[in-house]
Order: sequence, then structure tokens, then C-alpha cells
Amino acid sequence: MTTKDLIIAQFVQRYALSLQTGITDNTSLVAESPMFYHCKHCGILIESLIEDHFFPAHTICSQCEGLQKMVCLQEAKQMCQNLGTWPRRVFNTQTNQFEIKR
Ligand SMILES: [Zn+2]
Repeated sequence: MTTKDLIIAQFVQRYALSLQTGITDNTSLVAESPMFYHCKHCGILIESLIEDHFFPAHTICSQCEGLQKMVCLQEAKQMCQNLGTWPRRVFNTQTNQFEIKR
């Protein structure tokens, strides 16, 4: 297994984990609840912040950022698609939130 194969396999694992743990819909939380931010590619939780945080949250995890630099993010998503797990949700770039694809 090459390094590239390994990091793509890890993407598949992260994505599968995020499907199990789920994505928090910040809009459904009561006022003053902490906000949860997930990687827009693999879906893992990357930050939880107080509601009125000042700076924008990160939208990509360190691992997907690495995949992006190696230009194999699409290949990783294709692997999930081949396994039948991609895409179960879509990332809305306007709200910076995931929306479940039905
Ligand atoms: Zn990620």
C-alpha cells in the first residue's frame, strides 16, 4: 500500500466515522449553545466554539487540507462513492453547514 493509498483509506475511515457520529445542525440549537464545526470534506468535528465567537471557524481539517495539497481529494471522495457511502450529505458554502442529501 502506497502512502497515497493509505491517506485515501484514512479519508474513507474519517468519512465513515462522521456518518456514525453525525453532523450537528447549529441552526437547530437553542440560543447560547456551543457551535460545532465539521470538515466540509470528511465531516469530522474540527471545532466547537461559543455561539458568538469572533473569528470564522475552520472549514477543512488538517488531514483533508493535506489531501487537497496532494491533489487527491477528489480521488478520496471517488473511493467513498465506489464504496457506496458518498455523498450522503452536501456542504452548503453559503451557510458553511452540511445538509443531508435525501
Ligand atoms: Zn476532513
